Amino acid sequence: MNANAPLMTPNGPLARPKRLVVLGATGSIGDSTLDLVTRAPEHYEIAALTGHGNIDKLAELARRHRPRFVAVGDAGQGAALADALAGTGIAHGAGPQALLDAATIEADLVVSAIMGAAGLPPTLAAIEAGRHVALANKETLVTAGELVTRRCAERGVRLLPVDSEHNAIFQVFDAVSPQTVEKVILTASGGPFRTWTKEAIAAATPAQALKHPKWTMGAKITIDSASLMNKGLELIEALHLFPIAHHQLDVLVHPQSIIHGLVSYRDGSVLAQMGAPDMRTPISFCLGWPERRGTPSARLDLTAVGSLSFEAPDLDRFPCLALAKAAMARGGTATAVLNAANEVAVAAFLAQRLSFGGIAETVDMALEAAERRGALLAGYDLSTILMIDADARRWAEA
Ligand code: NAD
Ligand code: MG
Repeated sequence: MNANAPLMTPNGPLARPKRLVVLGATGSIGDSTLDLVTRAPEHYEIAALTGHGNIDKLAELARRHRPRFVAVGDAGQGAALADALAGTGIAHGAGPQALLDAATIEADLVVSAIMGAAGLPPTLAAIEAGRHVALANKETLVTAGELVTRRCAERGVRLLPVDSEHNAIFQVFDAVSPQTVEKVILTASGGPFRTWTKEAIAAATPAQALKHPKWTMGAKITIDSASLMNKGLELIEALHLFPIAHHQLDVLVHPQSIIHGLVSYRDGSVLAQMGAPDMRTPISFCLGWPERRGTPSARLDLTAVGSLSFEAPDLDRFPCLALAKAAMARGGTATAVLNAANEVAVAAFLAQRLSFGGIAETVDMALEAAERRGALLAGYDLSTILMIDADARRWAEA
């Protein structure tokens, strides 16, 4: 895959500001991205922004960054967005087509930071339009990894991983000699329930699960981090991002969240990337790529950290990780079913309609039901995967 234009010219980095689309601009990754953009107006300009419900914030971001187009995913919010942008002259739209329009507007890089599989259609549309993508939305690869990476290769599109573990691995993975790689290891903080008993975890409340020890993120990924489903989704994400097999992937619990990812090689060398836990570091790496730019992220002080510790993940107390590994090994549409059922279960848990233990039970039952209904297929196209996603959601909801 050689897709340096238009991120780079034959003589080096772009001489003009890079034009960015931010899908999911009102979220946590959106905040960090736009913070970097605000600090470096000489490097970046905003071509389009999208949000979902938070119109006041979306309109305020639009007034500050002056994009050519703003989209709200929720079709019912179109009039509110029009009101909020009145007098600005900024073009806007609402609903699924507006998200696709934002994703495909003329730009150099699309930051994909919508929450959940809702990010798949606009991300794939950006790829089809030949836009390079800085990918935070891991559900895109979990749901349709084979399709997305195949289209990237065919369209000459580069996928730059924003997720901190994958960004770390991207930095230390020898892409020129992938056959020398033995293992790719993702670290996990272990989340708020790392030391809890199985019974206590099963009965945990949303307030307890939302208290992540190291990272401040959107609600869905924070719950996934507490169940370790996030690490399972990240294993699947890594399988699609790097030329490796699933048996080469490992998870290492590392509560300090200083080492973000490791690659071990056949000569016994292990290369790791470290940094203070701040998403602006991996986001900046993707925005600036192939240049490494400055960020205001805290500098790592290892004497202040003192010591780093590691432990194996406990699949018995964290069954979501085991379910994700099994779905990854199965491949095809199994990971889309896993993701859809998990999204529904997490929303139900946050709405206090499901126990924390019920998340893994729902995902497990959804996979079994999909197997019985013949929905675990090896190959798929976009319409099949959207149908299987919707079907798994309906099933999990029921
Ligand atoms: P968030 O909930 O803070 O923000 C999500 C964004 O998506 C918002 O702009 C929201 O308006 C938009 N959105 C939500 N549902 C939508 C829908 N149905 N249609 C269109 N837009 C919709 O989430 P976040 O923490 O910023 O995470 C975004 C993505 O990045 C997720 O896939 C997450 O797994 C990934 N990620 C986040 C972090 C982090 O530190 N926050 C780290 C790694 C990966
Ligand atoms: Mg991560």
